[in-house]
Amino acid sequence: MFLTDDIVYLKGVGPTKAKVLASELGIRTAGQLLEYFPFRYVDRSSLSRIADLTEESGYVVLRGTVSNLQTVSTGPRRERLTADFSDGSGTMQLVWFAGTKWARERLKAGVQYLVMGKPTLFNGQWQLSHPEMETSEEQDHSSFPFLPVYNTTEKMKQHGLGTRALARLTETLCGCAAGIEETLPADVLGKYHLLGRREALLAIHYPASTDQLEAARTRLKYEELFFLQLDYQYAHSERQLHSAGRVFTTVGECFNRFFREKIPFPLTEAQKRVIREIREDMRSGRQMNRLLQGDVGSGKTLVALMCMLLALDNGCQACLMAPTEILATQHYYTFQRMLDGLDISVELLIGSRRPAEKKKTKERIATGATQIVIGTHALIEDDVRFRDLGLVVIDEQHRFGVEQRARLWAKSSVPPHILVMTATPIPRTLAMTLYGDLDCSVIDQLPPGRHPVRTYHRTEPRRPLVFSFLKKQIDAGRQVYFVYPIIHDNPKLDLRDLEDGLEMVQNYFPRPQYQVSMMHGQLTAEEKAFEMDRFKQGKTHIMVATTVIEVGVDVPNATVMVIENAERFGLSQLHQLRGRVGRGGEQSYCILMTKDRLSHTSAERIRTMCSTTDGFEIAEADLRLRGPGDIQGLQQSGVLDLRLASIVDDEPLVAATRNDVRDILGADPTLAAHPILLRYIEQSKNKMLWGKIS
Ligand code: ADP
Ligand code: MG
Repeated sequence: MFLTDDIVYLKGVGPTKAKVLASELGIRTAGQLLEYFPFRYVDRSSLSRIADLTEESGYVVLRGTVSNLQTVSTGPRRERLTADFSDGSGTMQLVWFAGTKWARERLKAGVQYLVMGKPTLFNGQWQLSHPEMETSEEQDHSSFPFLPVYNTTEKMKQHGLGTRALARLTETLCGCAAGIEETLPADVLGKYHLLGRREALLAIHYPASTDQLEAARTRLKYEELFFLQLDYQYAHSERQLHSAGRVFTTVGECFNRFFREKIPFPLTEAQKRVIREIREDMRSGRQMNRLLQGDVGSGKTLVALMCMLLALDNGCQACLMAPTEILATQHYYTFQRMLDGLDISVELLIGSRRPAEKKKTKERIATGATQIVIGTHALIEDDVRFRDLGLVVIDEQHRFGVEQRARLWAKSSVPPHILVMTATPIPRTLAMTLYGDLDCSVIDQLPPGRHPVRTYHRTEPRRPLVFSFLKKQIDAGRQVYFVYPIIHDNPKLDLRDLEDGLEMVQNYFPRPQYQVSMMHGQLTAEEKAFEMDRFKQGKTHIMVATTVIEVGVDVPNATVMVIENAERFGLSQLHQLRGRVGRGGEQSYCILMTKDRLSHTSAERIRTMCSTTDGFEIAEADLRLRGPGDIQGLQQSGVLDLRLASIVDDEPLVAATRNDVRDILGADPTLAAHPILLRYIEQSKNKMLWGKIS
């Protein structure tokens, strides 16, 4: 049977089952069934005994006989079938709620059965509902030591496609499969002694030993990651070949004057290196697509500013897009302050400004009178046209969707250089897979004189101590943030939590001695700017806020961040929030307030926060705790489609495939010598790829 054959022709399938396989699993061909891998195996040599079962036993295999079949009516046309099952060590109950007639006809007293499933304790007795069963005879004819276990759905079970039935199908298929071609280059196979594709596909269903299973899994994981890398890197090299970029050769007046007269502090070595990397890119003749990673507070803004000045020196405009109005506004003021006296026109474009003002700004952008534009989503509206946009900087990229970035990119006939900045660190493995085609720069050094933020976990009973600590800090001239999570779908309810918090804080810190600001998403842009400003100037001592201050806000004199209900925040969010303090020379603190009892993962998050300030470590922990499925941006990436490989556990394989693909494309950029790979690329070209538009 060939892999391209319709699954309906496989012995044991037929039209009804074929339909169910297609609708439930998308399996239409023999090849697709062969690539439906077991998610675990049952070692038939290790039978469990009923007498030894514990809550931790999980999925077990038992051997014994059934007796005492009983059908109980549980409603109109509904019944339950029970049977006792004994294995000599004890007795348990088997239960069916559906398909009772079918089960009843097949169960025979006195016959030896293998029973598989996950028993649960019910009223002090072990029970197994809808067990997978086969007679000892059935299983004796199969000589494999491990039985594959497949994921199945309720509907599949109803149509006789439970995991045992699927196993019988794959066993048949493995015996007759033809046309399994090798897909990996021979030298790669040789280099790692990988199993051939055919051998691996058969062995992953029916391994002869644990070693063989391991070898099969390794081969198939490698293959999976290899083709993911090939997708990204091929797209990358195509872009390098075909997308011409502007050539920024000049380092001129803007950059030099800023560097000589205005720069507020010496650059860190990491900042210098990154600026050099970006400069190289921008004069290479190719379009730059660079990801700039740097932990919170590492000084990405200054890097962005200096790169934008380079664009200006080469006759172009530059823009900076930020995810929130607060942040855009803050950048705008920072830029104005730093560029003061240099005769460079900087403008702010955010949605909440008056239409007439926006219109004027847009006109000046179109004529080129405005050289640097800072804004939010408002920048990507269709009526924003640049005279000549040479560089786009995107701050805190995780907040922007792929599509939005693509729209910015389309704003110029020759694509502008793109610099994407993020402080939400991306775990190394993820960066390698997701951004296989993006160049990456890292600012791995904080400006001098920073002390790592000290982080503590506190619960309600110790609140008075926390408050008296805050008092000391404020009396010493420092400022404090209180942050509340967004809990409700309803902004009004969230606001009430915040107002309750404000009241509590004000009770303890009475006016006029202490001034408290409140900041949340419901305020108008002007109100936000006003509150931010007062806090920045030190006119208020405490800012009570929702997560609107999460990203980028920069007030170096603030030294304490109190996060209320910290158990409700994700790790990367906590890390971002904590990054709001520790920005000046003073020792800073982060206090995580939680309720008494925490779930396992919340406790783990809090522990991680208290034990490290390293963004990369936190990102790795985040990935471990949540799994890649929840990490933003992954939905579009294809990484979630990985069937075997794990971004978390298979880092060495990720690295190996990345390097191997790089070597192959380096020596053979058009893949002329690799027809199988080229065919793969041609087939996958129609798929939307994240890498192409980042
Ligand atoms: P982030 O990388 O989180 O965006 P910012 O660009 O906001 O960080 O910088 C954090 C703070 O560090 C700012 O107050 C900025 O002025 C300051 N800073 C940036 N670069 C340096 C430097 N080389 N030396 C000292 N302070 C710096
Ligand atoms: Mg920033």
